[in-house]
Amino acid sequence: MNSEAPQVEMYFFPYVGGGHQIPMIDIARLFASHGAKSTIIVTPTNALQFQNSILRDQNSGHPISIHALQLLDGAVSPDSDMSATPSTDTTVLREPLKLFLIEHKPDCIVFDMFHRWAAELFDELGIRRIVFNGSGCFPRCVKENIRKYEPHEKVGSDYEPFLVPGLPDRIELTRSQLPVFLRDKSGRSDRMAKDEEKSFGAVVNSFYELEPAYADYFRKEMGKKAWLVGPASLCNKNTTDKAERGKQADQSCLRWLDEKEPNSVLYISFGSKPSFAPGQFLEVAHALEASNYSFIWVVGKTFKDEERCLPGGFEERIKESKKGVIIRGWAPQLLILEHGAVGGFMTHCGWNSMLEGVCCGVPMITWPLSAEQFSNEKLVTDVLGIGVQVGSMEWMSFSSEKKALVVREKVEVGVKRMMSGGDEIVEMRKRAKELAEKAKKAVQVGGSSSIDADALIEELKSSKKMRVDSGG
Ligand code: UDP
Repeated sequence: MNSEAPQVEMYFFPYVGGGHQIPMIDIARLFASHGAKSTIIVTPTNALQFQNSILRDQNSGHPISIHALQLLDGAVSPDSDMSATPSTDTTVLREPLKLFLIEHKPDCIVFDMFHRWAAELFDELGIRRIVFNGSGCFPRCVKENIRKYEPHEKVGSDYEPFLVPGLPDRIELTRSQLPVFLRDKSGRSDRMAKDEEKSFGAVVNSFYELEPAYADYFRKEMGKKAWLVGPASLCNKNTTDKAERGKQADQSCLRWLDEKEPNSVLYISFGSKPSFAPGQFLEVAHALEASNYSFIWVVGKTFKDEERCLPGGFEERIKESKKGVIIRGWAPQLLILEHGAVGGFMTHCGWNSMLEGVCCGVPMITWPLSAEQFSNEKLVTDVLGIGVQVGSMEWMSFSSEKKALVVREKVEVGVKRMMSGGDEIVEMRKRAKELAEKAKKAVQVGGSSSIDADALIEELKSSKKMRVDSGG
């Protein structure tokens, strides 16, 4: 390697849960496709989940590899089959990671903020760290201004809407829709905010054209150094990569979709760890039967019939009438969303799902549950104008007992509004398709995300060159 153009070496340390791990793997692949030598550091079990796509990238000549951490004897791996929650403890990875980093020093490590112990370790070892928090600029601006101005303290009840001050658009929320840590000011996420503050910057799975006013706000008003390099999912170019993303998915639903008319099917998914109040799925099932549109519904592996029972004979009826498909395992989400038969996406507004809906130009029925999903909903419905709200009001933590229900009538109204394809939905679809085009352009050579990825690599390269030249 000559000192004129040293190759940049980037490490990626993803979290163990689906919604954070999946995009970071994609981002590592993306940087490798831009020429950075990329290493993904994971547990041995996690490695199995995406090693095939990495192998394919290697065969295409991309400088990417996986380093599987060897856990100390007796240590229990925090793997969770994609369903880790933000509170899953990963400290067991600290020692093996430390041993690896003592031997190998990259130009930077991109790490997930949910490894709450990691920033300290990287500082101790003098490794430049870049934070990844899984979401986009918009929800972070919303959170920042709620924290700063505390508008939720000035309303009379949990359900009285308040305006989030200081933002480019009029964004209203209620106290009931705020995460507990924002409501009660506990230190948990302040710690993560501090980790972000002291980082070299943030890699963001978003693209400038999606949220230009908020990307500017994030950088200029909040003073964050950020590289918007997404949508990360677009690095999955072939069907195999898409079908294996996250987990190996059963593709039989795609053949079912082939038989359907364009825009006639509603795709329903609530992310990698769907969790609802008992009885909620019964409400959804009744609404689906009453509205009578075709659907694919991912109920997830954790679905327990006895807890969230479906109406008697529901599955037999939808099978016989060919009205619906229920997926109990892992759905090939990217392939479903890009299928022309899919006309709407009922989503919990996880940042990845929302972005994937955008990339496929599919309008959404928004049903936020947790994390920053209530902010994401506002981006979809109030800023981008590509979705209708189901009327979810209660933020729920992943670990708490779920009580709040969205009643069947509300669900039915949402489904009918979306799937009837009225003028407002035609307009939404048009806007969604335009955004999808912008997303594709953003990751192409010369696009905003491609430029941002190159800019980070260049920055790392020049500081490496300075170090090499000064003999450091
Ligand atoms: N996903 C999938 N198949 C499933 C469930 C989820 O491919 O059956 C993927 C989905 O495409 C997305 C991720 O898992 O990339 C979920 O991330 P998101 O931010 O939407 O939600 P979370 O799981 O973090 O709540």
